[in-house]
Amino acid sequence: MADLVARFRDVFDDSGPVRVVRAPGRVNLIGEHTDYNGGFVMPMALDRAVRIALVPHDEPVVAIWSVQFDERAEFRLPSGLGTPLAGLRPPWPAAVPGGEAEPAGAPHWLRYPMKVAEVLAEAGIALRGFRAVVDGDVPVGSGLSSSAAYEVASALALLVAVRPDVPAAPAAALAEAHGLSAGRLAKLCQEAEHRVGVRCGIMDQFISLHGRAGHALVLDCRDLSFDAVPLPAQKAKVVVIDSGVKRRLSSGAYNERRGQCEEGAEHLREFDPAIRELRDVSLALFEAHADRLPEVVRRRCRHVITENARVLESAEAMKAGDLTRFGDLVNASHDSLRDDYEVSGPELDLLVEIARGVEGVFGSRLTGAGFGGCTVTLARPEAVEPLRAAVLARYEKETGLAPRIWVSEAAAGAAVEQ
Ligand code: ADP
Ligand code: MG
Repeated sequence: MADLVARFRDVFDDSGPVRVVRAPGRVNLIGEHTDYNGGFVMPMALDRAVRIALVPHDEPVVAIWSVQFDERAEFRLPSGLGTPLAGLRPPWPAAVPGGEAEPAGAPHWLRYPMKVAEVLAEAGIALRGFRAVVDGDVPVGSGLSSSAAYEVASALALLVAVRPDVPAAPAAALAEAHGLSAGRLAKLCQEAEHRVGVRCGIMDQFISLHGRAGHALVLDCRDLSFDAVPLPAQKAKVVVIDSGVKRRLSSGAYNERRGQCEEGAEHLREFDPAIRELRDVSLALFEAHADRLPEVVRRRCRHVITENARVLESAEAMKAGDLTRFGDLVNASHDSLRDDYEVSGPELDLLVEIARGVEGVFGSRLTGAGFGGCTVTLARPEAVEPLRAAVLARYEKETGLAPRIWVSEAAAGAAVEQ
């Protein structure tokens, strides 16, 4: 955090009081592609986050230096691509990419805070400009939802800029100071991501805001009610392994799956008019009428419907301390994602296969939207090193990709840190 403030002072040569906000990425233990079907998920917040250091100013302009992309960009509030403002330009480091004073178009990463500002303005928040530095250690494009972390951090930065005197506190307190609940803020951030171009569900923004240290949340994505489930860290570790495959999930494949789910729900509504989305379809009803669905749609639906049941059962298993059962459900989730939802890939399948071969591993699956990204593995503490060794021995040799492996603790949700 000290580094980020120092970086801010470097970039902006500003000695004003710097505020820092933080929003974590997440790993989803089970419940994949259920969120946008009104179903259940079980994520935990990661001890990796996106941070923004900012100082508000009186121009209606948000100017951001991205450490990760090593470039700066700005936009005018509440929306609109930034035209450079005379007198606002801070002494930027000399090496602006391309050597140009002003990039021709806004970089992609600027779209997230722009869209967040847009939805907050529409929600009636009178916004104020700021200058900021953004940095993060959530790997970008690996399925750990750096995008949601960045949206939530952007929202907190915008809200802090309006109330620069708020104390350091969890995000909910800042949201409340603006008459918003944390759940509503999650929805606004989700809407922002839709406007960036991905029709994501609510899980990522919600867990980034509501994460609880040492716990996973079982979240009902329909009404946003949730239950915190303690993770027994002394009995099981959560190991995240990045396959190194940049998520090939074009928003196209993702949006296609969403469309197929909607199509399935529409067919099944014929048998029960109360069905709004796949969340409402019981396994019994599905099995009775599955033959009426087109083959691909049938498999997509089967994944979602069985996955919802697995989340609820795994929450019970975790609460009962039955990690073996939990692991079996995690394994079944992966197999369903691979065979029915078809969002895995050879690298993710290989990581899962390696993990399952290690003694003391409870279960392993792809996590996040799929098509690359990460796996999540639940393992006995003493199995972590053998797991690491097994992955290092085989994965790179067989794929040519360097895996990244780390054990993550469940962290607290987003906050104003300073
Ligand atoms: P994921 O959410 O799985 O990490 P996405 O493709 O949804 O992948 O989001 C990644 C995008 O989010 C990046 O391309 C970038 O535009 C933005 N982003 C994430 N983290 C940062 C950051 N620390 N600084 C600037 N932009 C970021
Ligand atoms: Mg994302």
